[in-house]
Amino acid sequence: MDDFNSETDSDYTSYWRDWFISSRGNEYFCEIDEEYLTDRFNLTGLNTEVQYYQYALDLVTDVFDFDCDDDMREQIEKSARHLYGLVHARYIVTTRGLLKMLEKFKKSDFGKCPRVMCDSQPLLPMGQSDIANTSPVKLYCARCEDLYNPKSSRHAVIDGAYFGTSFHNILFQVYPAMLPPKSQRRYEPRVFGFKMHAAAALARWQGEQREGMKERLRKVGIETGFENEDEEVESEEEDDDMEIGDGFEQGQPGAAVAIHDR
Ligand SMILES: [Zn+2]
Repeated sequence: MDDFNSETDSDYTSYWRDWFISSRGNEYFCEIDEEYLTDRFNLTGLNTEVQYYQYALDLVTDVFDFDCDDDMREQIEKSARHLYGLVHARYIVTTRGLLKMLEKFKKSDFGKCPRVMCDSQPLLPMGQSDIANTSPVKLYCARCEDLYNPKSSRHAVIDGAYFGTSFHNILFQVYPAMLPPKSQRRYEPRVFGFKMHAAAALARWQGEQREGMKERLRKVGIETGFENEDEEVESEEEDDDMEIGDGFEQGQPGAAVAIHDR
């Protein structure tokens, strides 16, 4: 079998998938089982989405035996990577695929949330679309429930459809213990130690809304999923009178920030 990575170094591997997942930039992918790849049912519809489908599939499953020139070879190689990505999106929502991605998640293979209050929560890759060539992969933080761009430019160009829009949610459905508590802590803007009125008023208003929501959920017996319940709320009220810009009506989220001489 040929060396697929002739450009970079002499790292010769005999199996295409080994080579693919160990290549730089492909760290987000897990290895798809031979068994899964050779079951035609799992590949339904992909023959119309991938150029040179059969050659590409042969390459991925290590039975490629076609004498062709370098240009053609390059085309087939490209198709094989695309095919692998499309099958990957299907594979990672299967029992075995989920387990493999869970292991990678535990090792923080997809990176950690850059938000300070998220305490290095591991991220999961996800697509904003299930259709190929629509948008690149994003990273999802289950603690702040927000999306981030991958740090590395090598990862930032991977097609989001190779992970899909559902995988990250399915993983937490199947492994609920992996779901982190929701982040309740947030950054409070201060000027020389004093809270700024508008931001503080907004935070207080949002805090009240959240408490109201938690109370309603508690009444109907639904787990709220917030971290360290009730602890934060007390401490917030203590230094209310230290706010900069006091004198504005309380609980008015849109009020302008005013810093008086004190
Ligand atoms: Zn986060």
